[in-house]
Amino acid sequence: VLTIAVVGAGPAGLYLASELMAATDLEVRVDVYDRLPTPFGLLRYGVAPDHLKMKALGIPLQRTVDDERVRFFGNVELGRDLSVEDLRERYSAVVYCYGASSDRKLGIAGEDLVGTVPATEFVRWYSGHPDTVTTAAVVAAESAVVVGAGNVALDVARILVKSVTELQETDIPQPVLDALAASAIRDVHILVRRGPAQVKFTTKELRELGELDGVDVVIAPGAMDLDPESEASLEDDRVAKRNVEEMRAWASRTPTGAPRRLIFHFWTSPTAIEGEDGVVARVVTDANRPVAGQDTEPIDAQLVIPSVGYFGVPVPGLPYDDASGTMTNVEGRVQRDGADAPGEYACGWIARGPSGVIGTNRSNAKRVVEAMLADDLPDAEPWDAAAELTARGVDVVTREHWNLIDAAEIALGGGAGRARTKLETWESLLGARG
Ligand SMILES: Cc1cc2nc3c(=O)[nH]c(=O)nc-3n(C[C@H](O)[C@H](O)[C@H](O)COP(=O)(O)OP(=O)(O)OC[C@H]3O[C@@H](n4cnc5c(N)ncnc54)[C@H](O)[C@@H]3O)c2cc1C
Repeated sequence: VLTIAVVGAGPAGLYLASELMAATDLEVRVDVYDRLPTPFGLLRYGVAPDHLKMKALGIPLQRTVDDERVRFFGNVELGRDLSVEDLRERYSAVVYCYGASSDRKLGIAGEDLVGTVPATEFVRWYSGHPDTVTTAAVVAAESAVVVGAGNVALDVARILVKSVTELQETDIPQPVLDALAASAIRDVHILVRRGPAQVKFTTKELRELGELDGVDVVIAPGAMDLDPESEASLEDDRVAKRNVEEMRAWASRTPTGAPRRLIFHFWTSPTAIEGEDGVVARVVTDANRPVAGQDTEPIDAQLVIPSVGYFGVPVPGLPYDDASGTMTNVEGRVQRDGADAPGEYACGWIARGPSGVIGTNRSNAKRVVEAMLADDLPDAEPWDAAAELTARGVDVVTREHWNLIDAAEIALGGGAGRARTKLETWESLLGARG
């Protein structure tokens, strides 16, 4: 029997399990460990709650969790409850799929002021992640600054300005929904280091901003006068071309006087976050290029959300590249001392860095499975993980427990006319096991 340990029950880990079972006639058993009591990783705690079509990717992933060849061990953290050696000794192979849970810093003064909340943490809050430390006070701000030019920045900005009526059908935990309903937000400023032709947004995400109720999108017309080089680059880049078309249409709109505004600042970098009494008061910026009609004054704000990328964290006993925040690997084979480490593989964001869509993890998983099957993996007998971990004092969450948590969230949502309402604390998640 090939027994495989997968660390991380996010898209990468679960695709890895399903691709492996589909690719071989060999008898395979897959144990999936996650530090959380719930599977699905950033599909559950990253992908925006109002992106219901994306969230539906959880349905096939749940089928993998339900497969009789798969066991789920939640609330088990590699490095805390389980060591790398534990896994290497017991399995034919270990696949590390534990994602990128930290964030890149802006590296400017004021990043530690109260009111500066990295996107990783703000996303955790509205997603109901049990480790969030953010409270409802965060949306007492009237003006917020989001720094970044990727889809996560757009998610964050959209959730801040979107009406609660439009968020009603999502799985957002009730306390978060109540906070957003009482939110004082009027203006959300999006600072983009370069120009409209260089943003990393996907057009679908960008377009959503223009369709929100009660929100004006503001772009200085001068920002859309592209330099000849940028204009020429659009010919080879369909996404950038459509993005620019969309933004040109917004720039030419007359503001309707809507209660909330999304204000883009192109060619603008923050240089300092200034506070009063330890609390964020304004963001000082630098224009990387002059833009006609775009304000260069410091931006008054009570909330600043840097959104310049997720970043992987090191785990004891595993190779780590601190420049990229990834686990050192070649085509998914983990590297130790410059050579392939037998029986150790990496997949998903910890292997590639935080880029691509959910589906990218599936093609990544396929390639790692090919490498695994090409290597001559030894057989190993399944170990009694639940019993041994429990003996160590670990409160293991099994698949049956997760099914109870899942049912409790669906029941909670049903009471409010929604498909699901997330439980957002460790206590409520673990308590739902009965
Ligand atoms: C805010 C945001 C929005 C996104 N929106 C979209 C979108 O709309 N569409 C799209 O296609 N993609 C989107 N993505 C990208 C998508 O979420 C990722 O591609 C995908 O989740 C990466 O999968 P992964 O399995 O590598 O990592 P993750 O999803 O992060 O999964 C890693 C898992 O490992 C667990 N873990 C971490 N450390 C340990 C440890 N020490 N021991 C045990 N377990 C551990 C974590 O709890 C987690 O469950 C978004 C990402 C973010 C951050």
